[in-house]
Amino acid sequence: MRPAAGFGKPCLPARERVLLDLMALDTDTRDQLLGAIRRFVAERLRPMEAAVAEADAIPDDILAEMKALGLYGLSIPEAYGGLDLSMEDECLVVMELGRASPAFRSAFGTNVGIGSQGLVMFGTEDQKTRWLPGIASGETVTSFALTEPEAGSDSASVRTKATREGDVYVLNGSKRYITNANKAGLFTVMARTNPEAKGGAGVSAFLVPRDLPGLTVGKPEKKMGQQGAHICDVTFEDVRVPAENRLGAEGEGFKVAMTVLDRGRLHISAMCVGVAERLLTDCVAYAAERKQFGQAIASFQLVQGMIADCKTEALAARALTLESARKRDAGENVTLEAAAAKYYASEMVGRVADKAVQIFGGAGYVADYGIERLYRDVRIFRIYEGTSQIQQVVIARETMKRGG
Ligand SMILES: Cc1cc2nc3c(=O)[nH]c(=O)nc-3n(C[C@H](O)[C@H](O)[C@H](O)COP(=O)(O)OP(=O)(O)OC[C@H]3O[C@@H](n4cnc5c(N)ncnc54)[C@H](O)[C@@H]3O)c2cc1C
Repeated sequence: MRPAAGFGKPCLPARERVLLDLMALDTDTRDQLLGAIRRFVAERLRPMEAAVAEADAIPDDILAEMKALGLYGLSIPEAYGGLDLSMEDECLVVMELGRASPAFRSAFGTNVGIGSQGLVMFGTEDQKTRWLPGIASGETVTSFALTEPEAGSDSASVRTKATREGDVYVLNGSKRYITNANKAGLFTVMARTNPEAKGGAGVSAFLVPRDLPGLTVGKPEKKMGQQGAHICDVTFEDVRVPAENRLGAEGEGFKVAMTVLDRGRLHISAMCVGVAERLLTDCVAYAAERKQFGQAIASFQLVQGMIADCKTEALAARALTLESARKRDAGENVTLEAAAAKYYASEMVGRVADKAVQIFGGAGYVADYGIERLYRDVRIFRIYEGTSQIQQVVIARETMKRGG
């Protein structure tokens, strides 16, 4: 891991920089970074889980501490104020964060992944200098706007139009289920610049500041889980976006989106592993304590069987995710591996959460123990950033391309 030279940015208030100073002492080892995150999760996030779910909001002081820890800038180059972690290190950090309600990760997840990486990988120097420092510090929240009412899994069929008029593009259309849209200051928007071109070929990506006239954000949707994390519709009515805000070449927008998603899928896989490991810890503690038939339920081999299945699958997902992350760090194309990791890890955490409810019995079904909340929280991992079926399509396509 590289030293976190971006820490201690002057844009952060002094109170928030206490953690930065601590981190600055610890920056030369991965273990120290992970230890700091582990303490933050245990001492600050875990005690707040139920309250965040109840209020459907993360308190400002927690968000400020996340910013101070550098969580919004994990993946952003040091030159722009981020930590510039390798994919493997980012996955390890996210696995630690998976030990708290996934809603916490969602607060900064778009800045680390789908909301910033188009800019990191395809942005011009001017675009990076303008936007990345604010994204890394958390001052600017970002959103990635690909999905539309009629373009979900078939994301290449986006209908939002971007029509060139001199030195601006005029955007019209609407996006659906956009994470953090209610807080975002900057959207990466995929819109069709060439109505003639088929599918992804006619799509371009744009950096769209929230304050442009004609951009409106809808009310947060009521969701099954992850209360405290929000999704909204975003509508564009004659939004005039400067041509200099186009990300990549005209017609390259779908490639931008897919490249960003390859990376995002590893991040989500790591999150699934973290939640599964946390559920296992909770299950083992509960099974040791809960007595039936005069003995701890952990002594029953049928309960042990569930624990063994969960552990085996969590280990497999951890290994697949980290191996795929290392391949990406080595410069390999990981479209197949990222899809396989996301497919396996998200399905795995669903099975683990289901067994966790079973191991807790009735206590798994009532709110006080938090298990039913996690059961609901993890359901989305099989849907966003490509459903499990879309991962299967990608895995099969890439496997056939590679000849096996
Ligand atoms: C909480 C949440 C956060 C989200 N955040 C974002 C965000 O930040 N940005 C963004 O752009 N989008 C976001 N999304 C949208 C998300 O990526 C889409 O919901 C997802 O890609 C699925 O699209 P869809 O909902 O239209 O489902 P559909 O595409 O309508 O799919 C319905 C069903 O059909 C299946 N299906 C579709 N096509 C095929 C096929 N070819 N083969 C086999 N099965 C198929 C699907 O797997 C699924 O089971 C978010 C969604 C949610 C719920």
